Amino acid sequence: MQKFKWRRIVLKVGSALIAPEQDGCRSRYLLTIAQFIVRCRAQGIEVILVSSGSVAAGSHLFPEQEKRSVTMKKAMAAAGQTEMMAMWDRFFDFPSAQILLTHGDLRDRERYTSIRETVFTLLEHGVLPIINENDTVTTDDLKVGDNDNLSAMVAAAADADALMIFSDVDGLYDKNPNLHEDAVLLPEIDSIDESIYAMAGCATSAVGTGGMKTKIEAAEKATSHGITTFILNGFKEQTFNRLLEGDNPGTIFKPYDKPMQEAVHWMTHTANEQGEVVVEGSIDKSTEDGCIRSDEIVAVHGEFGVGDTILVRSDDGTRLAKATANYSSCLLNFIADNEQSEFSEKMQDSIGPVVSEKDIALLEKS
Ligand code: GLU
Repeated sequence: MQKFKWRRIVLKVGSALIAPEQDGCRSRYLLTIAQFIVRCRAQGIEVILVSSGSVAAGSHLFPEQEKRSVTMKKAMAAAGQTEMMAMWDRFFDFPSAQILLTHGDLRDRERYTSIRETVFTLLEHGVLPIINENDTVTTDDLKVGDNDNLSAMVAAAADADALMIFSDVDGLYDKNPNLHEDAVLLPEIDSIDESIYAMAGCATSAVGTGGMKTKIEAAEKATSHGITTFILNGFKEQTFNRLLEGDNPGTIFKPYDKPMQEAVHWMTHTANEQGEVVVEGSIDKSTEDGCIRSDEIVAVHGEFGVGDTILVRSDDGTRLAKATANYSSCLLNFIADNEQSEFSEKMQDSIGPVVSEKDIALLEKS
């Protein structure tokens, strides 16, 4: 690990490692991971653990025939989370702390900042943060849905320099290794594009909610923030030994040369758009002075308030950028609906940019 010179790492441990038989937590694979955490900390590396597996861990407590219902899964998560935390805690002679999050928390800038600060405080005091999605309170609208993406959001929020995703595969293969004997493991990925997503196919894990696709999405989120990302096999002890020796035992995704700024990254990869404004043509054309003014907006969709994240779309439908709104949709609609009135004209002249230059995050992909 010294060869890598990490300062702060996020480890994502999948459900298959926590509860391989889906009948409660098993220490079989976790012991090796716990030892790895202890050895990283001994080398001065700060560790944050994103641990899946509450649903799988709590599964054995509920009747078989009812397990498919969402309500039952939430109950399994609530019960399994305690079991899982107790299991982790047993391995360490330093304190750990539970943080349960939803996408609703992460996409709200104030709550996001509060999460960041708590994580920093825990690390400063030698406490190991153990993070999972708060499955009990999530709804479709509120959830991240998989801990691969959640771990990338956490890594970005915590300013980590590496994200290690441990699951039951050795890394990214050029094709699905379960179906193709000649599939080749790709040790290093310089940049993530459609061809990389195509290799991931739709392979999913039997126990967790993620698959290779969500791991690539996580790698894309993390590397764009300058965070080196690994996909690794957490079932193999040699994975951890090789990492500690400074080797890459799986697939490494190289970080962007010019990572996004923290706020822009948050807006692009974590915040959800609450509504959208439509501008004519490209973003450059609409932002000649670096910002978007109300007279450059041709349509407003959805309801958003001041400080909400919005999508800037071109009139040909292209997703151009995410941005922070300086004015509410209500005010912008009022100005547009009363375009001809003197009051509206005055208003248009007097209000500042709807979106300021510093709050625009261009989207590379549509
Ligand atoms: N939050 C889920 C759990 O603890 C896991 C989600 C995932 O597998 O990615 O069971």
